[in-house]
Amino acid sequence: MYRDTWAEIDLTKIRENVMEIRQFLPGSTKLMAVVKANAYGHGDIETAKEAVQAGADYLGVAFIEEAIRLRNAGLKQPILILTPIRPELTSLALEYDLMLTVTRASWFQEMRAHKPVNALYKLYVHVKMDTGLGRIGIRTMEEWQEIVPWLAAPDIVVDGFYTHFATAGEADSSYLELQIQRFQEMKEWSNMLPIPINHYHCAGSVAALRFPELSMDMVRIGAAIYGFYPEMQVTNIKLKPAFSLHSRLMQTKRLKKGEYVGYNNAYQTKTDQWIGTVPIGYADGWTQRMQNTEVLVDGCRAEIVGKISMDQLMVKLPKYFPEGSKVTLIGCSGEQKILTYKLANHIGSVSQEITSSITDRVVRIYRKSGESQHEAIRSRTTAF
Ligand SMILES: *Cc1c(COP(=O)(O)O)cnc(C)c1O
Repeated sequence: MYRDTWAEIDLTKIRENVMEIRQFLPGSTKLMAVVKANAYGHGDIETAKEAVQAGADYLGVAFIEEAIRLRNAGLKQPILILTPIRPELTSLALEYDLMLTVTRASWFQEMRAHKPVNALYKLYVHVKMDTGLGRIGIRTMEEWQEIVPWLAAPDIVVDGFYTHFATAGEADSSYLELQIQRFQEMKEWSNMLPIPINHYHCAGSVAALRFPELSMDMVRIGAAIYGFYPEMQVTNIKLKPAFSLHSRLMQTKRLKKGEYVGYNNAYQTKTDQWIGTVPIGYADGWTQRMQNTEVLVDGCRAEIVGKISMDQLMVKLPKYFPEGSKVTLIGCSGEQKILTYKLANHIGSVSQEITSSITDRVVRIYRKSGESQHEAIRSRTTAF
């Protein structure tokens, strides 16, 4: 590692979170670990391996490239691609033994130009129903009737029938109830199929943890695996964040009252002041919306001042700190702690936007609880 900015991923936390969720769910419910977007920034392969060891039955990703990466890394579990792929990529999906999300009859029509019916190579699909998120999926009975003959083909296995909620985290559950009711009606439609459907599923992290009765045959859990969940609403399970982000002071300087810091002179010192420069910026995913949040310098809070630039940002130091002092942007330092969800509140988003936005310029260091950070970094450095 040549750069003094890194993310630490505590794989033990991921394992413990999966095990906690596994125990929380009804015994017959399968657990899909959603590891799209580089496992929400945590590292897809390492997270997927840990989740599978801890009891995940399925893996979920957004795109075919993400699924192929997991297969190439040796993961053998069923993998569902949560968005439709282009029909001509079906042979690639079969080659890698991937399950597809399907949403319309015309997709099958185009797909058949590339895949002749062949009972030997069965294609596993999950039909996505739009019960009110308004994103992807079948909404009407007509659309369903059109797709049914395609689903009934001898080389198709309908492994799943699913939907996704829009408001699982909101206090008012009326829209959620409407979506559940629509899904129940759609399940009735699914009896039109001459073949059984293996799994009905509707719940992501928040729905599964708040309303375990929605677990059905499978739950699709992303956020909770990483320790992101509404702790106020869900009190009978304890999950822990696995992601922390660190750097080191690159320069410390004393500025006189009235001097400027950063592009557009966005900050002006009000007194004589210590200013530190940290080598992380928006090209690492530390967006300009993080302006005025705090970092920890050797356990002391320090506010980000001025505009965050591409590779660097400046902080107002409460006192002198030497260059090389550890800076923590997410996680614990001394007695202090910076929590992802609080940063997310500040920028009007969710924790997973913050971690999944940390770009691959920031090296991920994997550690197990108990292993010191020093050991983790040394093992990573010698691996280069
Ligand atoms: C991303 C995604 C999930 C996982 O959601 P979390 O809230 O992170 O648990 C589940 N289902 C679908 C369809 C998704 O796109």
